[in-house]
Amino acid sequence: MRNESIDLRSDTVTTPTEPMRRAMAFADVGDDVFGEDPTTNLLEERIATLLGKESALFVPSGTMGNQLALAVQAAAGDEVILDSESHIVHYETGAPSLISRVQLRPIPLQSAADDPIAALEEAVRPPQYYYPRTRGVCIENTHNRLSGAILSLETVRAIGAWCRQHGFFLHCDGARLWNASVATGISLADYAAPCTTVMVCLSKGLGAPVGSLLVGPRDLIVAARRWRKMLGGGMRQTGILAAAGLYALDHHIERLADDHARARRFAEAIADDFEIMLDPPPTNIVLFRSRRRVSSALLMTALAERDILVSPGPSDWLRAVFHLGIDDDRLLVAATTMLRVHSELAGRATTVLERQ
Ligand SMILES: *Cc1c(COP(=O)(O)O)cnc(C)c1O
Repeated sequence: MRNESIDLRSDTVTTPTEPMRRAMAFADVGDDVFGEDPTTNLLEERIATLLGKESALFVPSGTMGNQLALAVQAAAGDEVILDSESHIVHYETGAPSLISRVQLRPIPLQSAADDPIAALEEAVRPPQYYYPRTRGVCIENTHNRLSGAILSLETVRAIGAWCRQHGFFLHCDGARLWNASVATGISLADYAAPCTTVMVCLSKGLGAPVGSLLVGPRDLIVAARRWRKMLGGGMRQTGILAAAGLYALDHHIERLADDHARARRFAEAIADDFEIMLDPPPTNIVLFRSRRRVSSALLMTALAERDILVSPGPSDWLRAVFHLGIDDDRLLVAATTMLRVHSELAGRATTVLERQ
């Protein structure tokens, strides 16, 4: 987090706490490329167990986890169906075109579909040779560009059953699956069970500085380990990083409920002046925009001048994300500054219009 500022741009801005840094400093380490880092091995075992899968692989980023999932489950020219608002489509630099060389088939699977199975049925390719081969489906839980929306267990199960019936893989981008689990009380393993592979991030709401994991069946994780090395992601004494993840599993999961409560309070506080995409916000992300047509770009700049940082969301939505660096005092300052700056800008716009 930038000094003195209230940084709501993302839950990635958290920095390791004192006790997390201590856990990192005293971690048992070895060479992970040789499979000899005890702390990384422990983290991989714990995450595999938590998610009810055979195996897990520590990777530098969520992007690498998602891309490895595609690379080990689909080949060049295969098609993968996913939500058109998904992270893989928007924020991963078009990596599938280079790494797995799969063709993405973005459809309104989570963002606009009332009936995701009907949407999948429509997108699946017939078996004629000139079509791409549909190989799998990706879901995102919680959904970043959909204001932290939770995909219900019922829907995950329905999509999983549909995939199995067709012989397709199902990958879950679960960068914030922890948030879905804490918000609903449904276990990570239950959310993961219908999926072949799942990626989870330690570096978002859990507050670790680096790291994500890909979990799934042993053979796929063995293949992913090879791909990780090929992409330059084989690291050595990763126990220093894994220790932060283990600390986060013990101390930072349940507290996500506080972030969710603060996201709701923030939305409530600004709701008269701002439209809220999902009200109440289901997890830790609030997407909002002015009810008085104050431009989002203008508002974002004016807020930054007062040390309140928010980020642009889809189209003209602004995004505020709650995390362990934001306590009740900061929440209050952020909400009141937001309202004051907004009414100043809205007032100025009105004055200009009246003069014309
Ligand atoms: C952050 C995030 C990722 C991975 O991001 P990295 O910055 O590569 O770690 C993947 N999916 C979603 C939904 C995310 O929010």
